[in-house]
Amino acid sequence: GAAEVWKEFDKSKVYMVDLESGLHYLLRVELASHQSLEGEELKTFKDFVTVVAKLLETLLEWLVSLPLERIPYDAILDLVNNKMRISGMYLSDRLQWVGCQGSRPELRGYPCSLWTLFHTLTVQAALRPDALANTGLEEDPLAVLQTMRRYIGTFFGCQECGRHFEEMAKESLSQVRSLDQALSQVRSLDQATLWLWRKHNQVNNRLAGALSEDPRFPKTQWPTPDLCPACHEERDGLHVWNEERVLAFLKLHYGAANISPKYAS
Ligand code: FAD
Repeated sequence: GAAEVWKEFDKSKVYMVDLESGLHYLLRVELASHQSLEGEELKTFKDFVTVVAKLLETLLEWLVSLPLERIPYDAILDLVNNKMRISGMYLSDRLQWVGCQGSRPELRGYPCSLWTLFHTLTVQAALRPDALANTGLEEDPLAVLQTMRRYIGTFFGCQECGRHFEEMAKESLSQVRSLDQALSQVRSLDQATLWLWRKHNQVNNRLAGALSEDPRFPKTQWPTPDLCPACHEERDGLHVWNEERVLAFLKLHYGAANISPKYAS
């Protein structure tokens, strides 16, 4: 197809269009050009958030309501095409990446959006622990990570990625010598958020210079000092992370207020 026009973007933002490419242009303009929202604008933004939340809710309700052992994919497609449309919600049939666009079509895109989604989910769970109320997952700070791990292992098309991720997940359990240590590693939703950040940086480190690296987006230890100067410290001449600051930064970066609807249409 025709080459896509490059979309300028701000790397300090997360793009809804990378997670769900069916959102309204109006919201993009309104939100991108305002430091804060009020009145009608705020209501518009709230409606937008409601749609996204309901979208997932609809899917979940439908899945839970099925007394089946096996669900044909056609049924899932039918839901996406029809039921969601009936309730006024759409999933775009067009894939477009903004924060996740690559300098070639085979670079970035989906795997980038998957990382973005999972970071967003761990941060949302840490910011709103009650979001998982009545799901049976609310007691477990590892719920989002375990859900992600199972999804990656079962469905992610990059099987090599799935294997690597599983190794890291296992490794961080086998490194600890006692149950106490295991629990103290990821004992809170905050720790779960930091765990995923740490693992993502390990992946970045391993993939630096690899064929899958987009030369326009070299793999770095993230967040870079320009995004979060306070996250970086020097002790005895060595670089160390200030994890408290990193956690605070993750909550801002992947928090709802930093999710820009820019480029959605
Ligand atoms: P990505 O690494 O996809 O990151 C997306 C965005 O997240 C970045 O642009 C940045 O804004 C932000 N970010 C970066 N680092 C962090 C961090 N530490 N914490 C929070 N946010 C961050 N590819 C392989 O070739 N081999 C593999 O084994 C492999 N394993 C993978 C495992 C998983 C679970 C996933 C989701 C992907 C894996 N990939 C693997 C793909 C690879 O990690 C990248 O997603 C892909 O190369 C695209 O890179 P990217 O430049 O878009 O940045």
